[in-house]
Amino acid sequence: MTESTTQEAVVLEQPGKIVLTNVNIPKISDANDVIVQIKATGICGSDIHYYTHGRISHFVVKSPMVLGHESSGVVVLIGDNVKTLKVGDRVALEPGFPNRFSSELKEGRYNLDPDLKFAATPPYDGTLTKYYRAPKDFVYKIPDHVSFEEGALMEPLSVAVHANRLAKMRFGARCVVFGAGPVGLLTGKVASVFGATDVVFVDLSETKLERAKQFGATHMVNSGDLPQGVSAETVIRKAIGKKGADVVFECSGAQPCIRTGIEVCKAGGTYVQVGMGQEEIQFPISKIPTKEITFQGSFRYCQGDYSDSIELVSSGKLSLKPLITRRYQFKEAIEAFDENRDHPLDNVKTIIEGPE
Ligand code: ZN
Repeated sequence: MTESTTQEAVVLEQPGKIVLTNVNIPKISDANDVIVQIKATGICGSDIHYYTHGRISHFVVKSPMVLGHESSGVVVLIGDNVKTLKVGDRVALEPGFPNRFSSELKEGRYNLDPDLKFAATPPYDGTLTKYYRAPKDFVYKIPDHVSFEEGALMEPLSVAVHANRLAKMRFGARCVVFGAGPVGLLTGKVASVFGATDVVFVDLSETKLERAKQFGATHMVNSGDLPQGVSAETVIRKAIGKKGADVVFECSGAQPCIRTGIEVCKAGGTYVQVGMGQEEIQFPISKIPTKEITFQGSFRYCQGDYSDSIELVSSGKLSLKPLITRRYQFKEAIEAFDENRDHPLDNVKTIIEGPE
């Protein structure tokens, strides 16, 4: 590591203003900590949302915050109790650390711990720095044939794995995915790797739907370009069968998608809400009891999701490479965020490399 006590970081100073500025280099504060030198970071929709709106739900940016939470790197320092990792290991970082005494953790759902310290979620700093500190059990080795870029994208992949687990995805399932952004694409792809035989993608953008072909899509429905008098529901049922979907993944958070999702979910099926959009929406709630739909929320990831994600990629069952549309150097980070904010349709995943 370096002698210096400060390092450059990508900091959201206030909504609408990102700066490259110096912050303190973290130190090992617990014998179970490791310090990772960051090599690649993906820009997430949440980073852009904080940049433009300064808040997501009840998380509000009140003071300057380092951005970034989809990162990989190399271990450069380990605490005295770290036996599972060594200096030089290539790793993916799981960026949310629960309180070890929380009841949610004891119940096996540490992602729901209200005190979870999650990178780049206010008030916690993110990973867009040179050095980042994490507890040893949130740092996962990646094999040499998995790139740092792919290591960084284990984060959105873990979101997709978690949603599929909660949906109890199985061979032969017929699925519909609303929203073909990064999480939607990965959720559909994981469903197909887990055995789904039909994966229908629904989106308003032809560009996004075209990409879905590389992510397990068996059918694509452009809900913004339907023939006169034909509903999205009709087209989806045509693709997937009259009875509807075994599993619906709603990854857009948009009211029309939520409504259609509940309509096309079959009796006894599972509806998983992954996306977050408007705080309050209207939807036909009576369909949930009358069809005995299991309505499932899915939030980030939990035990096992990161290791499964790494296995999916390292075994070659799933490639994260088609997700990457642009690369920037660390020094160009502000430009990278602006490009993502201004052209959301052209960019799936942008990777910021370094810093060197
Ligand atoms: Zn993310």
